[in-house]
Amino acid sequence: MGRARGQGGLAAEARAMRRREALCDHCMGRAFVVRARAADAGLLGGRLRRGGGYAEPARCAVCRGLFARLGEHCDEMVRLAEGIEFSTFLVGATLRPSVLDADDSMRSRHGLRGAPGIKSDVTGTLSRMFARRTRARAEAASPDMTLKVDLRDGAVSIETRPVHVAARYTKESREIPQRQGRCGECGGRGCVACGRRGISGTCSVEGRLAEFLCGAFGARQARFTWCGSEERSSTVGGRGRPFFARLSCPSRRRAALPRRADLGGVTIVGARAVREPPGAAPRFALTASLSIRAEEDVGDEALGRLRSLRGPVTDYGSRMQRRPIHSSSLERSSARSFTLTLRVDGGFPIRRFVEGPDVSPNVSDTLEVRCSCERADFADIDVLPARRRGGAA
Ligand SMILES: [Zn+2]
Ligand SMILES: [Zn+2]
Repeated sequence: MGRARGQGGLAAEARAMRRREALCDHCMGRAFVVRARAADAGLLGGRLRRGGGYAEPARCAVCRGLFARLGEHCDEMVRLAEGIEFSTFLVGATLRPSVLDADDSMRSRHGLRGAPGIKSDVTGTLSRMFARRTRARAEAASPDMTLKVDLRDGAVSIETRPVHVAARYTKESREIPQRQGRCGECGGRGCVACGRRGISGTCSVEGRLAEFLCGAFGARQARFTWCGSEERSSTVGGRGRPFFARLSCPSRRRAALPRRADLGGVTIVGARAVREPPGAAPRFALTASLSIRAEEDVGDEALGRLRSLRGPVTDYGSRMQRRPIHSSSLERSSARSFTLTLRVDGGFPIRRFVEGPDVSPNVSDTLEVRCSCERADFADIDVLPARRRGGAA
């Protein structure tokens, strides 16, 4: 058989090589793995050794016994991965420079430029061991978990691929802001003081949502992409406001999320894990109910003018952008106050549309009396389909 004869020839070469230097099965096998078309250098090295009738040395001149210790490193990998949900993984390794040098010079001494290096042999061997013990699959492209093994001191670190969540929230409280400040101790990186969350607490929409979502997925930190913003005093009602969260270092990839959960002044609705985060800031439409106070009494005729006002509105403060008003309704509450409800796109200059500067037409000019927006409440914020690529800008 050609293959047996071929291996016999390789075994003779290996025996000659073994006479000149002390190589373990792995380091010997690597030298021949391409020509033998073998997948596992360690197994090939063992076969060559038995065929050549020589012994494995007590200490390998290239790896210095590194391969013999991989079992212990794998034990540590398995121990740290306990409690983490994953079906694919990737192993990375850091080797002593002296070992890499010894491997390089062995390969150039024997003209083995095409042979795989010791680092890929180490990571490949650890991957096979870890896969056997966890029944997970090694995958380079987008692994659920990446294990980094430092072979200089045996330290193993694990990082898991982030989970992305899409959801909406409604905000019932007028006492909490939307955003949470960064942790004062670490500036957002995560430390003991903030429980590694990177934020200063949970007294905000962001803080409440982060605590809930990180808890559900066993994640460390949450980073949010919001569809617009609101002030502390604003409520968000109806279908609520959509948002996306990127949860870093999750220990679970799936979570049984309730359809809605009351988080104390904030309710999260329809949370679900999604494959992809939104590429750019999503476009959206919203309904804003503006409580407006005028400095003088407003007559019915003036309110009628406001009622029949139709978009678009030009924003001179922002590159003369034209902003449509999709629909509006008006309800008087007193001689000087009324509620104006608008359906507009995200980015509409709400406050300036009431008060006047740089926006035309606006409420104050239309009524010919100075008006201010006392409160803005939001509802039914909906993501709009993305604009088609390649169209006119
Ligand atoms: Zn070796
Ligand atoms: Zn911190």
